[in-house]
Amino acid sequence: MTTVVDVGGTHLRWASWSAGGGLRDRRSRPAPSFRSHPSLPVTELRRLLVETICAEVPHGAVAGVSFGAAMNQHNATVYASAPLWGAHDEPFDLLGALRSVRSDVDWHVVNDVTAALLHVASTRFATDRKVLLATISTGIACRTLDRGRIPLDASGLQGEIGHLPAVAHLAGAPVVLHCDCGEPGHLAAYSSGRGIARMADVLRQRRPQEWAASALADTGAAFERVFTAAVEAGDALAAELLAAVTAPVADVLRTALCLDPDLDRIVLTGGVATSFGGRYREALLAHLERTGLYLTSRYTPEWVADRIVVVGPGEADCLVGAGIAASAAAGAGASAGAVLGTRAVAVGTAGAGASAGAATAAGAATVLSTGTASVSTGAGAAAGAAAGVGTAAGVVTAGAGAVEAAVGAGAAGGGAG
Ligand SMILES: [Zn+2]
Repeated sequence: MTTVVDVGGTHLRWASWSAGGGLRDRRSRPAPSFRSHPSLPVTELRRLLVETICAEVPHGAVAGVSFGAAMNQHNATVYASAPLWGAHDEPFDLLGALRSVRSDVDWHVVNDVTAALLHVASTRFATDRKVLLATISTGIACRTLDRGRIPLDASGLQGEIGHLPAVAHLAGAPVVLHCDCGEPGHLAAYSSGRGIARMADVLRQRRPQEWAASALADTGAAFERVFTAAVEAGDALAAELLAAVTAPVADVLRTALCLDPDLDRIVLTGGVATSFGGRYREALLAHLERTGLYLTSRYTPEWVADRIVVVGPGEADCLVGAGIAASAAAGAGASAGAVLGTRAVAVGTAGAGASAGAATAAGAATVLSTGTASVSTGAGAAAGAAAGVGTAAGVVTAGAGAVEAAVGAGAAGGGAG
């Protein structure tokens, strides 16, 4: 069994996880944050967090930690966490801190979006070539698994789409709002949970009479609930607001699909996306039908819609993903605490023979590697890597050397990829 921990902005969750048995013995408690401990400096909050995590991990365990913040996945350093530490932005060596308190534990730390993606990609999307998971909640971020690998940039990041420039309109006119990061005009400023609340304020100011007559004017419950209920009830102004806050998300997805036709799946999750059920997907597809991909949308209009899925929290569970990452890294013989980003590891996924253009070996293993900066991210290289370690279904381990060699062979043979 692997001990798995999910560190969120408000809660810590623990469980025991195994590939065959799933999650057991779930428990949670509030996360120590600057809100719950306003008198403590950030260094103390971090020490308290590490102690709290460590207190629930058995002696000698393998532990997978999912952390809900932007982090350098090359070395498991957390860049910042506004919900836990406020505006403090000095990087925090989480892995080093965990090891220093509990050197008996084999620690593996991944970002929460990565963890959610690893869970989704291990189940019904296991045969897809590239799976992009985007979480639309308090914040917005995405991660793409490329035939088993999660490529990273020089800062150990990938897919921080919430802070990409975006444009938004409301009631027929442009809107410019500030993001939580302080910059104007970012995707999260319009489409995150907090962004949506600000967009609603603007809509109320621009359309006061329609607002007063709308189901959105109900002040008897939290706005998120009022909004989802109003959309479900067919309220016209609520539909307009949903269209406005999904348009910037659709813009990013359209660009992603335009640049990368290997994206077999775009999976949306997170509180905002899931709270609207199928309506969120419908709103995205309406944008992508109105303004689609040049020619593709004319000749193969189903191509975009086939790729976009909204899944519930149970299908993209950070606890499961943390377990997958930890057991994959531990099973590959990586040294204690290795993280995705530095070592090539493999997790067997039954029937994961990838679709056309990727690995074709029957039951090819899904490679959870890791994107060292030196590894090519070309399709040829990734296909070579998958084919190189592809063996029978089941749990597979591969030394880093084997995968590196396969990557090299794939890159050499794949040419432009
Ligand atoms: Zn931002």
